[in-house]
Amino acid sequence: MEHIVIIGNGISGVTAARHIRKLSDKNITIISAESDYFFSRTALMYVYLGHMKFEHTQPYENWFWEKNRINLKKGFVKSIETKNKTLHFVDGNHLQYDKLIIATGSKPNKFGWPGQDLKGVQGLYHKQDLDNLEIYAPNNKVCKRAVIVGGGLIGIELAEMLNSRKIPVTFLVRESSFWNGVLPEGESEMINRHIKNHHIDLRLGVNLKENISDKNGKVKSVIVAETGETIDCDLVGLTAGVSPNINFIKSSDINTNRGVLVNRFLETNIKDVYAIGDCAEQKEAIGQRRPIEAVWYTGRMMGETVAQTICGNKMEYNPGHWFNSAKFLDIEYQTYGWVFSKPRENEAHFHWKHEDDTKCITICYDTNTNQFLGINTFGIRMRHEVFDRWLTEKQDVDYVINNLSEANFDPEFYKRFEKDIQILYRNQLQTAQI
Ligand SMILES: Cc1cc2nc3c(=O)[nH]c(=O)nc-3n(C[C@H](O)[C@H](O)[C@H](O)COP(=O)(O)OP(=O)(O)OC[C@H]3O[C@@H](n4cnc5c(N)ncnc54)[C@H](O)[C@@H]3O)c2cc1C
Repeated sequence: MEHIVIIGNGISGVTAARHIRKLSDKNITIISAESDYFFSRTALMYVYLGHMKFEHTQPYENWFWEKNRINLKKGFVKSIETKNKTLHFVDGNHLQYDKLIIATGSKPNKFGWPGQDLKGVQGLYHKQDLDNLEIYAPNNKVCKRAVIVGGGLIGIELAEMLNSRKIPVTFLVRESSFWNGVLPEGESEMINRHIKNHHIDLRLGVNLKENISDKNGKVKSVIVAETGETIDCDLVGLTAGVSPNINFIKSSDINTNRGVLVNRFLETNIKDVYAIGDCAEQKEAIGQRRPIEAVWYTGRMMGETVAQTICGNKMEYNPGHWFNSAKFLDIEYQTYGWVFSKPRENEAHFHWKHEDDTKCITICYDTNTNQFLGINTFGIRMRHEVFDRWLTEKQDVDYVINNLSEANFDPEFYKRFEKDIQILYRNQLQTAQI
């Protein structure tokens, strides 16, 4: 029986295993160095917030794996020998495969800051990071202040977590406005104000210079590069992005760049070796998508796709229209299609913001054809399937504005804003035409 070995028990590796089992009788092994069972990484924050126990982040009961004949192996793969199809583990063990799926996810970026490996300096990615948070920041007696370095989706989650335990937070963000490499100006500025309203000490346009150690090798302060200021703290959260967790692959003959390079079939340069999820890098980007996409649903889609190929139904990875969602403290964010931080050539943005400063939308459209290209919504929940359909149908922006209530999750609630948005849109359009 063919042996399929998957390195990584995250969403992409586990989805691949489940679908291979649905489609075949192959022998399947999943390897992880992190946890005994698959858990939802996106739910880690809710454990610290006290909304759920860690066990509740595990989507499958522990008996699921044996019942479905999926072998789980705990261990850290040190190297891959593709010539004889062998994995080597740090503990000296090895394992043969017939086909290998690399699904090793990401790791938090560290940019060589002095003191980046001190106790109390950590990312928020692995289960061990959650355990360390409970050691270094269980409450505001042990942790009198935390400093978070890097403003993105994980940084804001960590700020919310620490804030929930009343730990004062200083947030060092390199950009001049929060996440403004991704968000248009109006949205990014609204989020700046929202963060500050939560009494988080947001510092824009600054970088970490170094982490200073106490006599026990634990962080006691940081120094801000631009100002030289020393900020006393008991925890430093490094959340300046993530990158593919593939150092151990560099010594093999599998081609890598930032991630493991794959074609549209998720195949690497080596026969019978595939890569999926956060660690995979498309050799040629798909449409306007980034070659590496560190999001949950693309990992799941890649897992499903590679399972088809491995089971004899060769399939291209086709992620469809881009979408994503996240939360900035109390404000939910969704995006469908493409809304770049600044309109590109022949694009324009229509932006509406509610006077309470917690709800806004930005719609991007083509100025030549009026085609709707994408929408960002904050504080208003939209229906994925409606925007997905409108993008496929290439609807124009007037149609989208006039039918926004169809896309809204709660049309009754939404009625209050719809008119407002339509009036602003007409006013702006008329001004533009004059
Ligand atoms: C705090 C947080 C919040 C997030 N929130 C969202 C969200 O709201 N929406 C969203 O779309 N995405 C979110 N993400 C991103 C999302 O979680 C990832 O895109 C997804 O988990 C990646 O899945 P994966 O299967 O590719 O890899 P992973 O989940 O990283 O799994 C890879 C596994 O492989 C193991 N591994 C790596 N190397 C080895 C080795 N050499 N030997 C053995 N095992 C190894 C790792 O330890 C890990 O267990 C969030 C991420 C974090 C950290």
